Amino acid sequence: MTENATTTTSKEPIKASEFDPKFKYELIKMHGGEKLLKCYQCGTCTSDCPIARYSDDYRPRTILRMANLGLKDRVLKSNTLWLCAACYTCTDRCPQDVEVASVIRVLRNLAAENGCVPQVFKDQASCILESGYAYKIPDLRIKKRETTGLPPLPKGNPESIRKILKGVSFMKHVEGSKGETNEQQ
Ligand code: SF4
Ligand code: SF4
Repeated sequence: MTENATTTTSKEPIKASEFDPKFKYELIKMHGGEKLLKCYQCGTCTSDCPIARYSDDYRPRTILRMANLGLKDRVLKSNTLWLCAACYTCTDRCPQDVEVASVIRVLRNLAAENGCVPQVFKDQASCILESGYAYKIPDLRIKKRETTGLPPLPKGNPESIRKILKGVSFMKHVEGSKGETNEQQ
């Protein structure tokens, strides 16, 4: 996925130099991150998270703990940050009203600003920009539609999408990723 990417449950020993005590204060100034400091690590978010149920690595409680501790690089370079399905179950269930899903969105935005976007999402964004579709539809499938009498797929409108996304910093990472391999996914 991302260069030097790790998971939030990495067993790599944490060095003292990795802690950034100001990080949490940066996060609480951002829309969605305001209630981060209220987390008391009860674990309700993880126990109710549908992704955590199927992943050994994805733990929203751990992500919030890392953010609170100031483990900025670890959390922003983590592949698992991108597994959140944004279902908002954690936000609904948190007894402290921490907007968990929004904190994760804030962290993802910061990760994207720092160029830590998994290649799979860059590829998907490239497809949207080129065709208007989230993935390249194989020619074989298009032909199969014809043989089964299905109408042609509606044409995508990538020009409008490009216009909407003009000036969004994520774009430069997508554009810059063209030609990269998917080796690290
Ligand atoms: S449910 Fe809320 S308080 Fe409990 S660990 Fe998750 S974010 Fe923290
Ligand atoms: S929003 Fe993300 S972290 Fe929260 S429950 Fe859904 S998948 Fe899990």
